[in-house]
Formats: sequence, C-alpha cells, structure tokens
Amino acid sequence: MAKQVELRELDVHYGSFQAVAGVDLVVPPCSVTAFIGPSGCGKSTVLRSINRMIEVIPGARVGGKILLDGEDVYGPKADAVEVRRTVGMVFQRPNPFPTMSIRQNVLAGLALQGVRDKALLADVLERSLRQANLWHEVKDRLDKPGAGLSGGQQQRLCIARAIAVSPAVVLMDEPCSALDPISTEAVEKLIVELKQEFTVVIVTHNMAQAARVSDQTAFFNLEAIGKPGRLVEAGPTAKLFAEPSEQATQDYIEGRFG
Ligand code: ADP
Repeated sequence: MAKQVELRELDVHYGSFQAVAGVDLVVPPCSVTAFIGPSGCGKSTVLRSINRMIEVIPGARVGGKILLDGEDVYGPKADAVEVRRTVGMVFQRPNPFPTMSIRQNVLAGLALQGVRDKALLADVLERSLRQANLWHEVKDRLDKPGAGLSGGQQQRLCIARAIAVSPAVVLMDEPCSALDPISTEAVEKLIVELKQEFTVVIVTHNMAQAARVSDQTAFFNLEAIGKPGRLVEAGPTAKLFAEPSEQATQDYIEGRFG
C-alpha cells in the first residue's frame, strides 16, 4: 500500500558540513514527485534520508522529521531495516547482483526474509517482473544471470527487485541517466504505471523527464558553494513549469544555470 511521505524541517549534515536545510514537503501516496535542481543542491541527500540509507555514511546526521503515513522513520520505535524494506530504492547505474540469476535477483529480498514457500515465490517473481514490464522478455531465461541483460532490462530488473518486497514507497536516483533513449522511454512508462500502487520519488537532471513522469515537482537550489541546499518551491508539475513562483525556478527551467 502506497504511503504518504512528509518531510518537516529536514536538515542533513555530513560531519560539520550542512548539505540540506529546512526542507518541508508532502509527497502524496500514489503519485510521482520529481526532485530537480543543479548538481550539489542535496537532491540525493534528501532521497537517501527518506529510507535511512544516509545512515551508512559515517558522520551523516539527519535533523527534523520524516514521516511515513505519520510515523517518524527516525523515531525510537522505527527500525532501519524495516524502513528500508518499506521504502525501496533504485540507483543511477543498474546494479543487479552479478552472480545471481534473474530469478534470484528478484527474490533476493524475500530470501533474506527467509521466505521458502515455492508457490508464493513463483507468484512474486512473475508479478514483480510483469509490473516491471520485463516478464515477456525474460520468462524463458529466469535462471540465466541478471548481469547478462541489456542495461535497460537490468534497470527494470532492479525495479522488479525493489517492488518484490511490497514497498510503500519507491525512490529512484536518476534511474535513466545510464540508459539509451529507448530504454529510458520504457523506464519512464513504467514509473508512471508504478504510481498506481506505490508512492514514487525520482531525482532527475532531465527537466523534460520530470515534466513527462511527475505529478509534483520540487525544485532545490544552492545559494552559494558551501551553503546548504534548500527547497525553493514545490507544486503540481504543470504549474511549476508554466508559472513558477520564484525567479530562481524560472531561471533554472529556462536553462540559465545548472
Ligand atoms: P545532488 O543530488 O543535488 O547533486 P547531493 O545530495 O549529492 O546533491 O550532495 C549535496 C552536498 O552534499 C554536496 O555538496 C555534496 O558534495 C555533499 N555530499 C554528498 N554526499 C556526501 C558524503 N558522503 N560526504 C560528504 N559530503 C557529501
């Protein structure tokens, strides 16, 4: 079930360096939100804070609150492993587990959870690959290595792996930046389909992509090198691109910087 993500006064530090300051944003369930903005303004940092992946970086500290359907993901009752299952992530470079077959890749999360029920595993395998629009391409080679697929297929395999554990939210950090235009189109189509069941947040450098796939766009910016990144504005994608409220947003979407 898709969940709402709410960022309240989010601050992130790496050691003494503050990377992000005061981010307030609501990401509604069953929608796609795109994070845009120049390099270094903290988009990936915010994304990695949502599923607590940021914690694996020594010195990284998160302040403020991140709520998943109202539950504080950094609260005393929250468990980082469970948060990462509930909030899946897809990375820039497709990263299937290199020694594993297509089947093992998709089912890796369930295997870690100790699921052994063969009928259930077969069902999750087919459902996840179908949802990732990959089933027809791989159904006759499920026991072949995942690494043997094309780049675009590998990225859809990684998406299948992410959704196989039934997350509520799927985070994507520039998921198409290593893909050719045809694979990009396939992944973009998939992103739009995924919002029927999941809440999706995507970081993208590509404004046309943000406009094509997202319902809401959040524009981040950096006042100066060394200063923290901030959320300048967020709103319905069509409105943000047609009539942004802030001059910096207008300048960015018109390609004047970044
Ligand atoms: P974006 O995704 O918008 O390009 P990032 O979130 O990657 O921005 O980076 C925001 C700032 O935090 C940058 O100044 C970057 O150099 C810094 N940063 C990112 N990751 C780390 C890290 N692991 N350690 C220290 N600083 C980092």
